[in-house]
Formats: sequence, C-alpha cells, structure tokens
Amino acid sequence: MKSLSGSMSDEGGQRRQRTIRGEVRFSGKALQTGQTVNVACKPAEPGTGIVFKRTDLTDSPVLRLDDAVFSKAHARRSTIGTGVREIQTIEHFLAALWALEIDNILVEVDGAELPALDGSSIGFFRPLKDTGSIPQPFPRRVIKIMETERVEENGCSLTVSPDDAFSLSYLIEYDCASIGREDFEITPDQDLFEKEIAPARTFCLKTEAEALLQAGLGQGATLENTLVLDDDGPVGTTLRFPNEPVRHKILDLIGDFYMLGRPVIGRVRAEKSGHRLNAEMIRKIHEKYVKE
Ligand SMILES: [Zn+2]
Repeated sequence: MKSLSGSMSDEGGQRRQRTIRGEVRFSGKALQTGQTVNVACKPAEPGTGIVFKRTDLTDSPVLRLDDAVFSKAHARRSTIGTGVREIQTIEHFLAALWALEIDNILVEVDGAELPALDGSSIGFFRPLKDTGSIPQPFPRRVIKIMETERVEENGCSLTVSPDDAFSLSYLIEYDCASIGREDFEITPDQDLFEKEIAPARTFCLKTEAEALLQAGLGQGATLENTLVLDDDGPVGTTLRFPNEPVRHKILDLIGDFYMLGRPVIGRVRAEKSGHRLNAEMIRKIHEKYVKE
C-alpha cells in the first residue's frame, strides 16, 4: 500500500478557531442539476461554525451542518437541508475548509448545489488559501476518538480508531480493468492535501454514466468535471495520478468527516465504503462527541 505522511502546523499547541481573511467567490456549473451557481464565502464570528445560506429562496434559509448530519437527504449523498431548502455536493468544498483549518464561515449560495469546478477540490482550495485565514479569540474544538467505532454492510466497512493524528486509508475494488484494486494511505497536512488529494477528480464508470443521466443525475457532468473510466482508462483525458480514483474517495471521506464541523483526531480505515456508510459513521461520532 502506498503511504504518505505529514503533520498539521500547530499540532499539540493551543489551537484557535479561524475564519477567512476576506470574501472569496466561486461560480460554475453544478454537477447534478447543470445550473450555473454563484457562491460567496464570507468571514464569520468565532463560534459560528460552517453556515450555508440559500440566497435565491425568498426567506434566504440558513442551513447548518449540525442539522444536516441527521437529514435523510444527507444519508444518500453529501447534501445539507431537506426538500427545496437544501444544498448538494458540498464534500469537495468542506475538504478544502478542513485542510485550511477554517472553523467559521458564511457560505451564500444562489442555487441547490455547489459548482462542480473541475470535479476536484483544488478550485476551492487555492482561492481560499490565497485569501488566507485569521485566528480568532476562541479555542478550536476537535474530536479525539477514544474508542474504535465500526460500521459495515455487504462486505463494505468503515472503521475509526484512536490515534494521535488524522490518517485515512482506503481500499477500493472495481470491476473495471483501469481501476481494479487500489489501496492508499495518507496522514494529510495542508501541503499533502494540496499536492496529493485536492486535485483528484470525481469519477464514474462509463457503464454507469448513462444510467446516472437517465435517473436525472449528473446533468451538468462533462468530461471537464468528471473522470469517465472504461477498461482502457480515462475517456478524453489523462489521469492526474495513476490511482486518482482512490485518492478521490479519500477526498470525499475528508469532506464527509468535516460535516462534523470540527477536525477528527483518529485513524480511519475504509474498505469499499461509500457515502451511505460514511454518513452512518458521522452520525455515530456526532451522537457521541458533538451532541450536547
Ligand atoms: Zn467526490
């Protein structure tokens, strides 16, 4: 298994909460709906958390991660809110916030989904990093895993165990010659995230692509924002890493875990896990470590 390791800058010291230094904007096509959406990220007061606002709806509803963890929509994919008051596909953006150690931010969105950008996290990460962040006069809250938790279903599993750092390993196995079996492990810090994880794009098998379109999903999907793979390799593009798919699964997992709104300290092992199992684990951790 390939393994990479880094460490976060102020490990061990008294960490402070952080927010972004100034406004950051994104716009682009959404993957599922195909609509163009605009996002404005704004600094927020200490203790605010990560808060989304749907500015296109009449009462501009505010959507909080805490409520999202338990929503039915979130059990299917990385969505917060319910019914029309929702925002989909937030995991690549949340992964960037995790890497930059952003605790407090207001994210105004004029649609039901974040833009896909190039299907990875790098388009969110770089502008946020360039703008920078500032420490705030509140201590940062973290979740230190104290005992092993495990969820499993049909040969897929996700385990979180106590450790001194946040590390992730992921095993995937696809019935597609260009992916096959990939196992990858990383203890990411900001630099490793930027170089090794953030650029890995959303992928799907060529055989799945048509079924998804027929189900009304992926209407904004193009070869510019989704890696489409068949037995021979990627269609119409080249891989950014030989094992780009498993790196993208780790990116999704980092984003899913940051639904908790605070960083997890522990070792994560995923075997063929998908969003549904991830969501189940996050609910478990939320019940045990976040709920007051
Ligand atoms: Zn993803």
